[in-house]
Amino acid sequence: MEKCKARIDSIYNGSAVDGNGLRCVVFFTGCNMRCGFCHNPETWTEQGREVTLDEVVNKIKRYKSYIKNGGVTLSGGEPFLQAEFCKALIEKLHGENIGVIIETNGLICDVELIKLCDGVRLDIKNQERDIDARVIEFLDACKKAEKPVTMTNVLVPDLNDTQEKFAELKRLKNTYGCIREVKFLAFRKLCESKYARLNLPFRFEKYREGGRSDLDKAYAAINN
Ligand code: SF4
Repeated sequence: MEKCKARIDSIYNGSAVDGNGLRCVVFFTGCNMRCGFCHNPETWTEQGREVTLDEVVNKIKRYKSYIKNGGVTLSGGEPFLQAEFCKALIEKLHGENIGVIIETNGLICDVELIKLCDGVRLDIKNQERDIDARVIEFLDACKKAEKPVTMTNVLVPDLNDTQEKFAELKRLKNTYGCIREVKFLAFRKLCESKYARLNLPFRFEKYREGGRSDLDKAYAAINN
């Protein structure tokens, strides 16, 4: 993909859950993981819509006053798979005084992109696997670049709500001063119909959804 074009699924205006304030979210297509709880399986495909840099910038500029207390979040899918476009987009948006954070799984450590963005939401995938060594490399780069990181973690009851899993997250939080916040997100099954539509198996159907008491238990484990 050339620098000034990317493949995206959509641009959503008005998200209050992808960073501080109201935000425009660019959902890139393509992902290098296949998480069983993924809410956006439609972004796994390499297809999506081809867009130019100017097209994305112009669309976001239309919402500039609306997102003045928030900014733009690059999400997906995995935005680091289209790192060159993301770099060009961030430079353009910074020229408009619009801040940009990136939501990522942390498997691709592009130091230049980390340096350019204004913050990272790093979703730690410890549900079916151990924390990947590439994520540690990614956190090292965030620390070196002094980028604020919000560490998110999808909490799946009876899968990653063990004291061992919480202890790993607590160790990361205590090791990396760049991790400003840890946010647990309760596992939800709202995405189930998407899997059916895409003719994909929803592997996490067997788990129950998370609730307030699950979240309280997780926060207590990492904050005490
Ligand atoms: S990394 Fe994100 S977009 Fe990719 S499969 Fe996992 S949850 Fe979905």
